[in-house]
Amino acid sequence: MTATSTAPAAAGRGGAPLPFATLVEEAAEVTAVHARRTDTEAAFPAEALDSLRRTRLLGLLVPAAEGGLGGDLGDVLTATRRLGREDMSLAMIFAMHCQQVAALVRHADGKLRDDLLPRIGRGETYLASVTTEAGKGGALLTATAPLRQREGHLLLDRFAPIVTGGAHADGFLVTMRSPDSENENDVSLVYADRGQLEVASAGRWDPHGMRASHSGALHLRGTVPEHQVVGEHGRFRDIVTRTFGPLAHLGWSAAWLGTAEGALARTVGMLRSARTRGSLSLDSELLLTRIARVRHRLEAVAALLAHTLDTVTHEDVSRPRVQLLVNGLKVTASEQCHAAVHELVEIVGLRHGYLRDSPLALERALRDLRSASLNFSNDRLLLADGKLTLLDAEVRLA
Ligand SMILES: Cc1cc2nc3c(=O)[nH]c(=O)nc-3n(C[C@H](O)[C@H](O)[C@H](O)COP(=O)(O)OP(=O)(O)OC[C@H]3O[C@@H](n4cnc5c(N)ncnc54)[C@H](O)[C@@H]3O)c2cc1C
Repeated sequence: MTATSTAPAAAGRGGAPLPFATLVEEAAEVTAVHARRTDTEAAFPAEALDSLRRTRLLGLLVPAAEGGLGGDLGDVLTATRRLGREDMSLAMIFAMHCQQVAALVRHADGKLRDDLLPRIGRGETYLASVTTEAGKGGALLTATAPLRQREGHLLLDRFAPIVTGGAHADGFLVTMRSPDSENENDVSLVYADRGQLEVASAGRWDPHGMRASHSGALHLRGTVPEHQVVGEHGRFRDIVTRTFGPLAHLGWSAAWLGTAEGALARTVGMLRSARTRGSLSLDSELLLTRIARVRHRLEAVAALLAHTLDTVTHEDVSRPRVQLLVNGLKVTASEQCHAAVHELVEIVGLRHGYLRDSPLALERALRDLRSASLNFSNDRLLLADGKLTLLDAEVRLA
């Protein structure tokens, strides 16, 4: 765990606890073995998910008293970065699951909490996120599909155009318009177990990148008990401000940074060996200045990630200057990590940079990172941040 974390490690075969770093390495090794195939086949990384279950990293954020590893947000970012070095899809799968778990840890109570957190802590329950809706795109704070109430139960009927890992999820956190409301801003977050739903595939998944995230469309229908609302009806905005927003942007940025770090590490390894670098010259000033820029981009994102983590840990995240920082991290990481890998391709050229069977896997990293600006549109964030910037004439940076 991180230097300040007191979280216990998961038990190894003989019952002795394994350190956090060992658990993450195990998951990273399994991820690396399957990454090329899952990308080619646009297949979900089932073996890597099994490893996240076995190591109980799926329960990283569940408090130890409730059966989890009791890790903190810094641990999630450390693990996500490491996994991103091998496969950005798997890193996003992990980070997004942890975002859902954080929402439950902070906002769920009573029977839902008592039933669900120990299962997640044991690595049994992988959670998918259902917020996007057809027609509203990434507008997180609105919902059109209505939640209906009947005799202590909630009826769900929800088309979900893009659900990462939906075909493999054990449970879903779903946003819907609150019962009896005509206002699309009244949004409720509901938990549904796979066993409580009919889960129908509603479309193929054949994207440019992020192919192993297996984020195809689903149609969810079912009935859940009323106590499976997370927080209060209509108060999803509070969950977004306190938890979903910061964790999404931190977690995604860690996945993108890890992906770019892995790309740079493999490239430097190739360049340092006379056997593999061929005609590429380490004396080339073009190569040296370009690779320095790549390194600088990653240093800047790493510093911003660490600063944002520190800020959201110690400050009120609803403050505009903290929101500006969190949004700025997402936009900056999405642009800089993509630009860094793009530059690596320019440095090493076609054979090492563009061919799909190159061991550097730069073209996969580049395809995956192309999704970063779209995964909650940078334009939406910049628009919001522009308004917040104009409100702060003194320019007090977080
Ligand atoms: C790999 C991947 C995995 C994903 N996994 C999930 C998942 O598991 N669950 C889930 O629910 N969603 C998921 N999403 C969806 C994601 O959260 C966003 O909802 C989605 O990327 C937004 O898609 P969009 O570009 O079609 O929509 P929009 O955000 O509507 O954007 C469409 C276009 O309109 C512009 N635009 C729209 N509104 C505004 C505005 N107000 N201001 C400025 N510009 C605007 C944008 O610039 C953009 O060009 C995933 C996305 C990706 C890429």
